[in-house]
Amino acid sequence: MAIEPAVVSPATLAEAYAIAARGAHRPVAGGTDLLVQITGGIGPPPDRVLDLWRLDELRGISVRDGALELGALTTFSEIRASVACREDAPALVEAAATIGAAQIQNRGTLGGNVMNASPAGDTLPVLLALDAELVVGGETGERTIPAAAFWPAYRRTAIRPDELLVRIRLPLVADRRQRFRKVGTRRAQAISKVVIALAWRGDPGSGTWREVRVALGSVAATPIRAAAAEAALEGERPTESTAERAVAALVGELRPIDDVRSTAAYRREVAGRVLRRLVRDEGRW
Ligand SMILES: Cc1cc2nc3c(=O)[nH]c(=O)nc-3n(C[C@H](O)[C@H](O)[C@H](O)COP(=O)(O)OP(=O)(O)OC[C@H]3O[C@@H](n4cnc5c(N)ncnc54)[C@H](O)[C@@H]3O)c2cc1C
Repeated sequence: MAIEPAVVSPATLAEAYAIAARGAHRPVAGGTDLLVQITGGIGPPPDRVLDLWRLDELRGISVRDGALELGALTTFSEIRASVACREDAPALVEAAATIGAAQIQNRGTLGGNVMNASPAGDTLPVLLALDAELVVGGETGERTIPAAAFWPAYRRTAIRPDELLVRIRLPLVADRRQRFRKVGTRRAQAISKVVIALAWRGDPGSGTWREVRVALGSVAATPIRAAAAEAALEGERPTESTAERAVAALVGELRPIDDVRSTAAYRREVAGRVLRRLVRDEGRW
């Protein structure tokens, strides 16, 4: 039988921090993950819930201090509708468009996706590829954690129990290009089998790629960067032979698992094919 936990809905972030500091409440944003966990009996339900939905301090999309900043409560629909996101984080817009369907996109938040820490969370590879910074806060103040250090193990985050995720910063980088691709069973309401986010800085003169990031979801216990594939692309132009080397490197370094959604062999094969296609789209050979 589903249990309804006690809910507290503070109106200010300071109040929310004070409640979080007591350590007895589970935060809830849009509830699209947490409610499924509670009603589906996945793990023990929380006794108390800290409802974040009224906290306007956790909303808004803006460009500030050299970064695109998104409040933790930013919904996927807001990301899709944002001109700033379309200009500076098109891969995030593409990822948002693949999440669930309209109902989930209206209610589900970027912060919830980050904090749920699923290896299949579709925005997480994008945040890795764009070198995102996760700003967390509590009664003792704010601190910033790089995305590369935010998901240390399966469904774990680097946040402390007395902290909340406040906002996500995506540093603005000149000449950075970005791509996103999700492979699932259907076009909507599909949990991903493989997700790839690719980012690089293109040299306008030589056409070579710098600061290449290849990040993947659903192929390991956490979202990951593919270091060997990145090294194969770094400093190169997007030619067919470069793509082949990068694909071989990627397939060699991935260690996916077999599970209900897919097999390890399929994931490795598809990840390689998607990377080849993304590079080919740029090189047009
Ligand atoms: C039908 C359906 C389809 C879905 N499809 C997809 C999909 O295609 N791709 C995908 O990636 N996900 C999908 N999801 C999962 C879910 O919608 C997303 O992960 C969403 O981003 C969760 O956001 P939320 O605001 O609803 O999180 P919530 O359920 O409110 O919270 C999720 C977790 O994060 C914690 N949390 C939330 N906000 C904060 C904060 N600011 N600080 C600290 N902790 C916080 C909560 O305590 C909880 O542990 C789907 C879910 C459903 C039900």
